[in-house]
Amino acid sequence: MKASSAKAAKSTAPVVDEAPPPAPAASPALERNCSVGRAISILSDAWSFLVIRECLFGAKRFGQFQALLGLPRATLTERLTRLTEQGILKKVSYLAHPPRYEYRLTTMGLDLYPSMIAMLRFGDQWLKGVPQVPLRLIHRSCGCACEPIVACSACGEEVRAREVIYRDGPGAGMSPSSDLLRSRRSSDSEQYNRGRPSSVSRTLQIIGDRWTFKVSREAFLGARRFDEFEARLNISPNILTDRLNRLVEHGVFERRLYQKLPDRFEYRLTEMGLALYGPFIAILAWGDRWLANGKPPLILTHTACGHDFTPEVICDKCRKPIAAWEMSYERNYDITEDGEIRVKPGA
Ligand SMILES: [Zn+2]
Ligand SMILES: [Zn+2]
Repeated sequence: MKASSAKAAKSTAPVVDEAPPPAPAASPALERNCSVGRAISILSDAWSFLVIRECLFGAKRFGQFQALLGLPRATLTERLTRLTEQGILKKVSYLAHPPRYEYRLTTMGLDLYPSMIAMLRFGDQWLKGVPQVPLRLIHRSCGCACEPIVACSACGEEVRAREVIYRDGPGAGMSPSSDLLRSRRSSDSEQYNRGRPSSVSRTLQIIGDRWTFKVSREAFLGARRFDEFEARLNISPNILTDRLNRLVEHGVFERRLYQKLPDRFEYRLTEMGLALYGPFIAILAWGDRWLANGKPPLILTHTACGHDFTPEVICDKCRKPIAAWEMSYERNYDITEDGEIRVKPGA
């Protein structure tokens, strides 16, 4: 089921061509096996992400999704079907006559929660929004207001980008890419802002675009120069230029001159860019659990403790991994009957 879910994610994702169509190639383009990429191919569809988010807020029925997100019936039907095929949702009958169904998150779907929370924390801390912190999280199992962090499963400490080295795992290698030469620069990225204010949406607006995400990934894996990104990604120069500029505009990269006459620049992750590492490896852990057939492409080592580890999103107060069913939240905003967002005083 897991392998076919990954396949379904790739073959059904909508794409808007940005580069001219490639000439037929003798062999298909290859790309790095990557659990984050597999996960992002699901979340990079704004509609799919919004449906998952509303499920985590308790929506189950077609009419609820439609009222909350205001999306066309056909689009909603298509996304619910796709997420069911991908193994994120299950369709459950709640009425026999007439037949009626609702959609619930599967274990795999619920397990997206820690990654979502890692993205939420990044958005709260680094991306401007109104309210700046839409949700206050409560870890019910310890009773504390909680600011989850991404931690090492071996030593329990927060993981920072500069304290991790990696090596190839059993799933390392290259596979034919289904979408390498096509990519939307999220023609639908504005859709992420539908419905409620969301720090996860803010984060996905930056990294949810597939090429932007791949460029950031290569930066975490050590790429700095234009030709390094180009060689590793098999990306067209105009798309690469666009994504690098965009990441500089967003404050994820900074451009540094490393050679004069002719001037050459390299791209370094800023402090903000380095902070994306937490969400990045949280998503990687989810992809490894659900989409890698037990063969993770990358093995991470935490240099601070010297052990191989699995990233875990933990409560900063009790230091236990968080799960969707043990968390509650307080909203720093209200939604009026007309769907208008009202920020609560003091938020
Ligand atoms: Zn450690
Ligand atoms: Zn706790």
